[in-house]
Amino acid sequence: MFALHILGTSGSRPTATRSVSGNYLMTPHGGLVIDCGEGFQERLVRQDLRLKRSKTGKRAKASKVRAILLTHCHLDHCWGLIPFLHTMNLDGRTEPLTIIAPGAPDGSDSKPDFNDLFGAWREMIEDEYSRGRMGYEVNWVLIPIEDELPIESPFQPLEDLHLTAIPTKHGVVSVAWMISSNKRPERRLMVSGDTSRGVTSFKSDSIGGELDVLIHEATYSSETHELAEVWGHSTAEDAAEAAAVMGAKLLGMLHLSSRISDPSVLEEEARRHHNQSFVCEDGDIIEVSWGGEISVSRREGDAWTGLSIG
Ligand SMILES: [Zn+2]
Repeated sequence: MFALHILGTSGSRPTATRSVSGNYLMTPHGGLVIDCGEGFQERLVRQDLRLKRSKTGKRAKASKVRAILLTHCHLDHCWGLIPFLHTMNLDGRTEPLTIIAPGAPDGSDSKPDFNDLFGAWREMIEDEYSRGRMGYEVNWVLIPIEDELPIESPFQPLEDLHLTAIPTKHGVVSVAWMISSNKRPERRLMVSGDTSRGVTSFKSDSIGGELDVLIHEATYSSETHELAEVWGHSTAEDAAEAAAVMGAKLLGMLHLSSRISDPSVLEEEARRHHNQSFVCEDGDIIEVSWGGEISVSRREGDAWTGLSIG
């Protein structure tokens, strides 16, 4: 079973109730982090502590993380990385960790990008090694994005899962991450990262089948679709259209602009195109069983209760 923990649903900046981007996917063979904006590690620790208190048997442990997947280099998606690596070291981690991100091809003038950030971060970590203060190896994997076709990750950290990067449209080099099970029938989940509408490969034909769950940004409502176009983001309608063309059974929307005061507006808009749509809250857990059952649970205090969608 996959369990996706949504640990940040705000776009660009935190609000009183929503943090910036960050997701944790728990699988029987270990965990994957997909984006980790500012404060990610604290959110993960709190989620795990609350789960422990909830006595549901679910957990979201930092020690289980096998790889970190980044969608793009905007800071609300990656600024929590280095502090998180540092804490895992203090916690005595010895298992290697892989970080996978999209890179601009050689000679490209796409700035900023992970070529520069990885260079700086790598230096910081190597300095820790040289002082004998780093207890685990960090593998930095950059996937050069040349065109708009899906790319198999050159490194597959979990034996029962398969990672594919899907190039998106956001003004800087950016990808969505698709995580599929190797078992049949295949189960598939995608996290869009930031993107405007009309991604070339967001079609079930291009990604080799339909999705169980699509987590897609919906920064704006269609009332302000001009802003979505200007800033390389999507509206709830755009997200729902992407869910429909990829045959997603469930759409979870996040990365809300702080100007959205009533998320139900986004839900109403999306459900006109895709009935099984909802706006994620921080702490939501979306589970997909190997048999294909999908459930969403929402946190209140230290307890999670099932949410019915649509
Ligand atoms: Zn962005």
